[in-house]
Amino acid sequence: MRAFQRIALLGSTGSIGESTLDVIARHPDRLGVFALSAFSRMEKLAEQAAATGAALVVVPDDAAADRFRQAWRGAGARPAIRVGAQALAEAAADPGCDTVVAAIVGAAGLPSSLAAARAGKRILLANKEALVAAGSLFMAAVRDNGAELLPIDSEHNAIFQCLPHGSRASAPTEPAAGVRRLIVTASGGPFRGRDPDTLHAVTPEQACAHPNWSMGRKISVDSATMVNKGLEVIEAHWLFAMPADRIEVVIHPQSVVHSMVEYHDGSVLAQLGQPDMRTPIAYGLGFPDRLQSGVGMLDLVRWGRLDFEAPDLRRFPCLGLCFDALRAGQGACIALNAANEVAVAAFLAGGLAYTRIAPVIAQALQWQAGRPSVTLGGLEDVLGLDAETRAHVLEWIGRAAA
Ligand code: NAD
Ligand code: MG
Repeated sequence: MRAFQRIALLGSTGSIGESTLDVIARHPDRLGVFALSAFSRMEKLAEQAAATGAALVVVPDDAAADRFRQAWRGAGARPAIRVGAQALAEAAADPGCDTVVAAIVGAAGLPSSLAAARAGKRILLANKEALVAAGSLFMAAVRDNGAELLPIDSEHNAIFQCLPHGSRASAPTEPAAGVRRLIVTASGGPFRGRDPDTLHAVTPEQACAHPNWSMGRKISVDSATMVNKGLEVIEAHWLFAMPADRIEVVIHPQSVVHSMVEYHDGSVLAQLGQPDMRTPIAYGLGFPDRLQSGVGMLDLVRWGRLDFEAPDLRRFPCLGLCFDALRAGQGACIALNAANEVAVAAFLAGGLAYTRIAPVIAQALQWQAGRPSVTLGGLEDVLGLDAETRAHVLEWIGRAAA
C-alpha cells in the first residue's frame, strides 16, 4: 500500500471537487487534504476546509478572502489563506502535498496543472482544457520532472485501465505496442435525438440537463454540443501519444461503457461501470490499489441492452471542428478552446444563441489560421494566444448583439 497521501484539490467546490472529497472522506487512513481552492462559493469552501482540516486555501482575491474569513466556523485552526492565480500554482508545487487533483474548469487551470507537473507530483487530471491548450508543454513537463499523470476524465481513465500494464507510462512518446486504435464513447448529450433545426431556441437549463452525468455548467454545455468529446479526442491524443486517425468516437447513450482500446489481434478491452465520477477518481487516488468509492454494482440485467451509433456531424458540427483543430496544430487548439469558453459563457449568460457556438468557434479557427504563425513554446506564448482569441471572440459576439 502507498504511503499516506496529502492532497491539493484545486477546484474543490466544483462537481469533480465534491466527488473527490467524497472519496477522500472514505479513506482517512491513507488520504488527507493539504490544500483546497475555489473561485466563488466561499461558504462552501469554508465548510470543506473545516471538514477536512486543510492547512491552506487559495481564493481569487482579497474580497473572497474576507468572505472566507466571515464564513469560517471551524473548531480547529483556520487554514492559511493565499490569494490569486500565482498562489494556485504555488499550492500545486508545495512540498506539503504529494498529489494534486486538477479540477479547475477551463484554461484557468493550466498554470497550476503545469506547476504540479514541474514539481514532479502525482497529478489526477480532470482539467482537460490544460491538455488541449498546451498538450506538448504539459506532457514534456510530466516526463522531464518524473511526475505521475493519472487521467480521471472517465473516458481516459477507462483507456488507461485497458492499456497494457507495462505501457501505462505517465507520458508516452508513442502509442502503446499492440494497440490499433482508441474508441472513445460519448453519450450524445441532451440533444442527441433532436432535429438540429429546432436547436436555436435552446435554453441554458435545457443544455445543462445531461441525461446521465451531473456536472458543472460549462462541461454540461460542452457535452450538449459535443465540444466535450472533441476536447477529449485532443486530450487522448496527448495522454496516449495517439494520432487523430486512430481515435474513434462512438455514441453510446447509456454511458456504461466508458471507452475502449482495440488491439491489433482484434481484441477490444472496455471498462464499464455506473456513470459516477467517483470511480475514476478513486482509481487515481488509489493507484495501483483499488479503493472503495461509494459507487454501487453495475446491474447489466437492468440495463438489458447497450446501444452504439455513429455521431452525426451535421447535428454536432463542433466535433468536426475539434478534429480540424487537432490536425491543424497547437495554435488552432488554443483558439478553439478559448473561443469555446467565451461562447459557452456568453450562452450561459443569455448573450448568445446555442446554435451560434459552433460558428463562433469556426470563426476563431479561421482567424487563427490567417494570422502569422508564432512559436508556442512556453506558457506565456500559450496564455498570450488564449487571451488574444478571447478578446476577438468577445468583440465578435458584442458586435453581433449590437
Ligand atoms: P465546476 O464548474 O463544477 O467546478 C469548477 C471549479 O473550478 C470550482 O471549484 C470553481 O470555483 C473553480 N474555478 C472556476 N473558475 C476558476 C478560475 N478562473 N480560477 C480558479 N478556479 C476556478 O466544473 P467541473 O464539472 O467540476 O469540471 C472541472 C474540470 O473537470 C473541467 O475541466 C471538466 O472538463 C473536467 N471534467 C469534469 C467532469 C464532471 O463530471 N464534472 C468529468 C470529466 C472531466
Ligand atoms: Mg469525459
